[in-house]
Amino acid sequence: MLYRLLCVYLALVGGLVSTSPLHHEAEEEYDPMHPQRFLFADLAPTASTDQRAKRSSASMPKLRFEPPSPNEQHAQYWNNVAQDILDRQLHKNRLNRKVAKNVIMFLGDGLSIPTLAATRVYLGDESTELSFERFPYVGLSKTYCANVQVADSACTATAYLAGVKANYGTIGLTAAAALGDCQAQNDTSNHVHSIAKWAQDAGLSTGFVTTTEVTNASPAGMYAHTANRNWEYNGAIEKDGFDPAVCQDIASQLIHGEVGKHMRVIMGGGRREFLPTHETDIDGIRGRRTDGEDLIKHWQHHHSHHRSAYVQNRVQLLETNTAHGETDYLLGLFSSKHLPYHLDADEQQIPTLSEMVSTAMDILERNDNGYFLFVEGGRIDHGHHYTQPIRAFDETVEFAKAIEMARSRTSQDNTLIVVTADHSHTMTMSGYSSRKNDILGVNNGQRADDELPYATISYANGPGYDRNVQREARLDLNRVDMRDKSFAFPSTVPLGLETHGGDDVAVFASGPWAHLFSGTYEQHFIPHAMAYAGCIGPGRTACTEQQS
Ligand SMILES: [Zn+2]
Repeated sequence: MLYRLLCVYLALVGGLVSTSPLHHEAEEEYDPMHPQRFLFADLAPTASTDQRAKRSSASMPKLRFEPPSPNEQHAQYWNNVAQDILDRQLHKNRLNRKVAKNVIMFLGDGLSIPTLAATRVYLGDESTELSFERFPYVGLSKTYCANVQVADSACTATAYLAGVKANYGTIGLTAAAALGDCQAQNDTSNHVHSIAKWAQDAGLSTGFVTTTEVTNASPAGMYAHTANRNWEYNGAIEKDGFDPAVCQDIASQLIHGEVGKHMRVIMGGGRREFLPTHETDIDGIRGRRTDGEDLIKHWQHHHSHHRSAYVQNRVQLLETNTAHGETDYLLGLFSSKHLPYHLDADEQQIPTLSEMVSTAMDILERNDNGYFLFVEGGRIDHGHHYTQPIRAFDETVEFAKAIEMARSRTSQDNTLIVVTADHSHTMTMSGYSSRKNDILGVNNGQRADDELPYATISYANGPGYDRNVQREARLDLNRVDMRDKSFAFPSTVPLGLETHGGDDVAVFASGPWAHLFSGTYEQHFIPHAMAYAGCIGPGRTACTEQQS
């Protein structure tokens, strides 16, 4: 009896507790984590500002959702889309186990997964597919490095090109070498070799294209061993108190190193790392080298007995006869520093990434043994660091175009293409804007608790903090031009440059053995898998396994 009474009491109390939110229905939303009120908000434009302010609680929006397009209101539309995807997926039944004669690796520096989704909207619609998103196999790569949670482009280049996790800021060295340890750099037992060397040893042609300086961390992973990614020219090593004769700088390694010397194609920016301080380049900008060496002349001299060309702008590049096999070695340095962002580039002077990749392929394709080509969309990363997403998205579009070109001019029977990123960024895409809402504009789903709009794109940290937080209050985004290329998007922690992110990045693969790239795995697995497919390198390969 007592037990019964207790049950009744508990039921009553429970009932009161569970029904109590109903009493506050007017203020509290049913599920504040997934708000819906903006869908039903009274958006009467005649309401005065005062009335609106009174009526709205913190998250009550005055911004409007667009209805879906007529097609998309029918289940049949989505069923058809899904059936098309099913067709594509069913075609994966036949695994491509042929040998990859050619391997092309496309690296989007800082191309995080949220950047992919945001770039689709930037291109006009959430359902847009970037060229490489049609590749049949996708995996996730874990990007941490030997001594850091969140990676930089140096240790990751060692992972995705040489197959070994390394320390932050170091390239082509094992984790036995600490950042800035010249002695360790000089000890060849710490050196790890990249897939470029494996390819060269197997008689393949090699080359790389980047939109950054050719001595920057990612491309340096192809040919350099350095304890500090900043040691791009000799003076940088001297400044750190070391002898460049002991620890060779990255530019010297590209011109004189075993792998660099045999590179058929080198394209990007960074003339200053190759020229002495007393010389100026074609744009009148001085070199950085304090050893008096003109490494461009060294390269020209070294390749004087080859059919070689040094080009400095787009016109020279396009005039170089690569399509008819009259150039075997090409050095293209199109800027003193990084290439300008595509959005800012003088189209006459600066070749597009697609143009550079196409020229590289002209040269590399002539080797019957095949080739390994590394292509970096290097400035996606820089757009994010400055919290200027328009630059990151536009560079991503250019990156996707180059991949589309490369895939369309090669055969999936003999050319493996792998597309990935080195690390993520802290950019996020916040809810709940309507479809096709300007990805670079304010979120039109709701307003924030301070009654101000917020941007769909924001960063966890970076230079956007200063501009967006004013006198203890947030910047009113309706009063600024968010479409300005240089507008720094909001970030919650003030930092001169936004940091990388630690989340996984995607890997897209198409061609022989592309299925090896599905799943979740360590980033340093990638070159092992590419080498397996291409029958190169010191590990197991498709060719050795098929023999045994
Ligand atoms: Zn970066």
